[in-house]
Amino acid sequence: MLVVGAGPAGLEATHSLGKRGYKVTLAEARGEAGGRVTRESALPNLNAWARVRDYRLGQIAPMPNVDLYLESELTADQVREFSADHVAIATGSRWRRDCVGRAVRAPLPGANADTSFSPDDIMDGKRPPKGHVVVFDDDHYYMGSMMADLLVEEGYKVTLATPAATVASWSVYTLEQGHIEKRLIGLGVEILTRHRVKDVGNGIVTMVNDLTGEQVDRSGTLVPVTMRLPNDSLYDALNSEPEKLEAAGIKSVRRIGDCYGPATIAAAVYEGHRYARELDVEIDRDKVQFKTVKYDLELGG
Ligand SMILES: Cc1cc2nc3c(=O)[nH]c(=O)nc-3n(C[C@H](O)[C@H](O)[C@H](O)COP(=O)(O)OP(=O)(O)OC[C@H]3O[C@@H](n4cnc5c(N)ncnc54)[C@H](O)[C@@H]3O)c2cc1C
Repeated sequence: MLVVGAGPAGLEATHSLGKRGYKVTLAEARGEAGGRVTRESALPNLNAWARVRDYRLGQIAPMPNVDLYLESELTADQVREFSADHVAIATGSRWRRDCVGRAVRAPLPGANADTSFSPDDIMDGKRPPKGHVVVFDDDHYYMGSMMADLLVEEGYKVTLATPAATVASWSVYTLEQGHIEKRLIGLGVEILTRHRVKDVGNGIVTMVNDLTGEQVDRSGTLVPVTMRLPNDSLYDALNSEPEKLEAAGIKSVRRIGDCYGPATIAAAVYEGHRYARELDVEIDRDKVQFKTVKYDLELGG
């Protein structure tokens, strides 16, 4: 078994396949396992998330049938050379830089690597030129306010614009909304609700008020927090040449986690777990999964 990507999905697939007795190789491009969880746990106040990674690394470490290789970014050729029976692609997703999401339906013509910095860019340590930044939050959970928080603490003047009626509107459901808004106000972040970005370029971010139609300009750079795209180029490259897969003896290539559909940590872990439990097992799709599956191998819980 080859698992590509050691985020929550790849780690859980490896962990559960290891428990089922498979010989598993887990390849990770970065120098550290954990995927998004490792990157995000380095953001302000999110270090508790590292437990998703640490639990699974702790479980995998003593397994003699599991090997983890860090700094191993695999290409399609390398996957084929490995000749595993089954390959799980758990290569995650990335934030869009062109601002497309719920409110903005076509890429902003002016959005490029100089004018627009995605949360991935920021987490990779890239920074806009010092000055004013407009964080456009069309995600509505915590990432937009997190970016605003981080950048204002680094000395940027920050505007947080959102098409929603409140900042971080989804966080109402997690009882965090008031705390987030209060913190942003305390940090001096300018908040523009009911606004969407129209374009960026020439050092100006142009927005429009959804209710009044009034145009609002702010000088500076854009940080769009809108939507994510699957990192599925490896999966596509492998599947575009089925004859090579067959020649390499690879029976299946499956996407799991964000690579299949960007979602939550829980969804990625679930998919990794389900992948491991269903591999080589005949499934009756009409029945409730997990409870009705019969296994030849001991699952261990
Ligand atoms: C900014 C952000 C905020 C989020 N907030 C939340 C939240 O609040 N709650 C929640 O539940 N979920 C949240 N999520 C979602 C959650 O982080 C992801 O759903 C989860 O991490 C996906 O796990 P994964 O294993 O599919 O992918 P990832 O965690 O992205 O891991 C993919 C791994 O594959 C590796 N990789 C990529 N290509 C290769 C290659 N060719 N060879 C080898 N390795 C490769 C990468 O280096 C990475 O380590 C958030 C995601 C993002 C991006």
